[in-house]
Amino acid sequence: MYDIQYVPKEDTFHTSKTACKQISNGVQAVFGPSDPLLGAHIQSICDALEIPHLESRLDTEIHVKGSQEFTVNLHPSQELLNSAYKDLMTYLNWTKVAIVYEENGAETVNSKGLIRLQDLVRTPTKNTEVYIRQATPSTYRHVMDELKQREMFNIIIDTKPETIQLLFRAILQLQMNDYRYHYFFTSLDVETFDLEDFKYNSVNITAFRLVDSENIRSRLLLRDMERFQPIGHSILNKTNVIKTAPALMFDSVMSLAHGLAALDRGATLRIANVSCEDEKPWSDGTSLFNYVNTVEFQGLTGPVRFQDGRRANFKLDLLKLRRDELLKVGEWKQQSGLNITAPKYFFEGGSPNITLIVMTNEETPYVMLRHNAANLTGNARYEGFCVDLLKAISAIVGFQYVIEFGPDKIYGAPDPDTGEWNGLVKQLIEKKADLAVGSMTINYARENVIDFTKPFMNLGISILFKIPSSQPTRLFSFMNPLAIEIWLYVLAAFVLVSFTLFVMARFSPYEWQAPHPCLKTDFVVNQFSVSNSFWFITGTFLRQGSGLNPKAASTRIVGGIWWFFTLIIISSYTANLAAFLTVERMITPIESAEDLADQSEIAYGTLGGGSTMTFFRDSKIETYQKMWRFMESKQPSVFVSAYDEGINRVLEGNYAFLMESTTLDYVVQRNCNLTQIGGLLDSKGYGIATQKGSPWRDKISLAILELQENGIIQMLYSKWWRGTGDICNRDEKKKESKANALGIENIGGVFVVLLCGLALAIVVAILEFCWNSKKNAQMDRQSLCSEMAEELRFALRCQGSRQRPALRRPCSRCAQQATGPAYISSNVRSSESISHRENGMLPMLERRKSGVQSFEIET
Ligand code: ASP
Repeated sequence: MYDIQYVPKEDTFHTSKTACKQISNGVQAVFGPSDPLLGAHIQSICDALEIPHLESRLDTEIHVKGSQEFTVNLHPSQELLNSAYKDLMTYLNWTKVAIVYEENGAETVNSKGLIRLQDLVRTPTKNTEVYIRQATPSTYRHVMDELKQREMFNIIIDTKPETIQLLFRAILQLQMNDYRYHYFFTSLDVETFDLEDFKYNSVNITAFRLVDSENIRSRLLLRDMERFQPIGHSILNKTNVIKTAPALMFDSVMSLAHGLAALDRGATLRIANVSCEDEKPWSDGTSLFNYVNTVEFQGLTGPVRFQDGRRANFKLDLLKLRRDELLKVGEWKQQSGLNITAPKYFFEGGSPNITLIVMTNEETPYVMLRHNAANLTGNARYEGFCVDLLKAISAIVGFQYVIEFGPDKIYGAPDPDTGEWNGLVKQLIEKKADLAVGSMTINYARENVIDFTKPFMNLGISILFKIPSSQPTRLFSFMNPLAIEIWLYVLAAFVLVSFTLFVMARFSPYEWQAPHPCLKTDFVVNQFSVSNSFWFITGTFLRQGSGLNPKAASTRIVGGIWWFFTLIIISSYTANLAAFLTVERMITPIESAEDLADQSEIAYGTLGGGSTMTFFRDSKIETYQKMWRFMESKQPSVFVSAYDEGINRVLEGNYAFLMESTTLDYVVQRNCNLTQIGGLLDSKGYGIATQKGSPWRDKISLAILELQENGIIQMLYSKWWRGTGDICNRDEKKKESKANALGIENIGGVFVVLLCGLALAIVVAILEFCWNSKKNAQMDRQSLCSEMAEELRFALRCQGSRQRPALRRPCSRCAQQATGPAYISSNVRSSESISHRENGMLPMLERRKSGVQSFEIET
């Protein structure tokens, strides 16, 4: 049998009186009340009379252990609820949270809001910024507006359920109901709230539920509920959702029922005959309480168990609003903590109705305006790698977007003095854009103020430079195969070896031989005079004969070594000459960043206000610091406002552009006059930038990984890098250059040398002629002019020009002693004249025949 009594709120006198009246009728257990103040009074009466007291209210009082000897409370303690809230905050990675609580005196479960949540405030999870505001129905809008201004998107709501509609209205009025906002309700009855206005607009609403709705209908509980008709009726509200308070009351009655049943099996229970007046406790109260305290059963609020009179091992369902319904997305248990079963509901894309503002910069081939953009509207105006990528991502994640160009065409860098950002980063910080898509590099400084998704492309900084012009053709380019020093060393070797040969030949006895093998003489001659030594070395160097042959071993060694030397030099020269004259040689004044840093003739720069610029500005590497100092101080500025400007400056010449390898590849493939110099200076990636803490980051990251793994990104890369525009065919260009015939400009120098040699020979011949004429003039005692005229006449005479008087030869002694004309063959003449000159000896000449020419000499 049960007896329900209604008492006025906050009236402890009447409540105590009513309770005492019920007790005197012989009660075995007291339930409630739900008011904390009245509850405390009933609790002390039950403790004194040792009557089991079952409560189902949230008790915020801190009790000394064992002070409530005869009370069990079905409501989970605030301490455990707070740890569930904290687990959820950690899971959602909330770093900036607002708590809106409602203080309403001795009111029901929502009283002492701040005290209840003090645990959350005092020990927020690491690095969490907590903003607390007290609100009443009249200040809801004001408080929410304040949160909006402060950009608090994660909000814990701990207000009265009765006035929750007023709060909802404020949220709608302030338009704080988009995907960025996440509301967590501490109420366990969120299912009973009217959330109609929040459906389909992707606002995040999360709450815990104690009632085990999932299992209720599948168990025998309904049968039990029917047994407790009066309570059972009030449990189900009109939407068939069970409210927490009646469910708890139901479970407390069931606890007593289970306790009584257990007691019944062991002992008999006598009716309590106690009264408030004599204060004599009920003798069977303790054993009944002990049975109640140890019950374990599956109630409407999940598994019911007590530990020291408090609810233990209970379970909370985590609910999240998704599209049009609240769905269970996880569970929290005291032992195992939070277990999310449907994480995608937390990170889902939301409704396709959401339109994100995507800001970008016009840059080939990432985002470009179509040629007929003027006739188009919306996103159709744009094309490019990033436009395609964005399309693919939005299809996976589920959002709509509008592409807009950033106001300043730059990606964003912080001002070194003020720390203020510009470019697309600024737009994200100021929440003027939801996403920034393009060749946006992920770097440390940016990651501090905005968020980036996983990279969709990897790259590094490299140098763009104009292809060096081919070496200007020079008349003497046949000298190129050997370096100028080598030519000088060859010349020195030539002089040294010639001289060595001369000296050695004089020392070696085997080089002294009879002037002619057929002549028996009493003197010997040495063929290696100074001039002959030089002539021998010259002849062999140029791979020709000289008519001279070394006879001694020492001179032969010199000759052999020299031949070997010339073999190597001439072969190397020939091999290199072919390469030099046929292949177009490039002048590459710079080959790396170090080369750039070490010179100041060629200017170099980067895109202004981008990550490449900040790379040099913030680098600790000496070379890059040096380059930054140069770039910073160079006038006119070496920084460009767009890639195209940088590329044009490179094409103009004398400028190297430091840019990212991805764009550089694109440019170099399309312009044969441009090339990449050196390798990559660093390694990084492009990502899609989002506002700090944006819920889109993880979703887009997942989409990027998916697109990467199924090869879509690679296909897009091929489409935009290889499949569009005119690709420059370098191979053909190379082939052409190889087939170039040698022109006069390449080897004309050889002709010049030949002509010079001929000119020199003519000059020497004239000098010889003059010298000989002068000597003959003295001997013939004629004037120089007549002698020269005679000699000239003889030289120009057509007949008999192959013979001439021997007296005219420069053989002084021979000439002195000769008495008549004699004729000598030209080949004998020279050796005789040598031997005369060298030895100063008079040769013994014999009358002999030599070939067709006979000669006669009188001594
Ligand atoms: N992609 C670069 C950026 O994000 C542009 C650059 O500096 O080369 O800033």
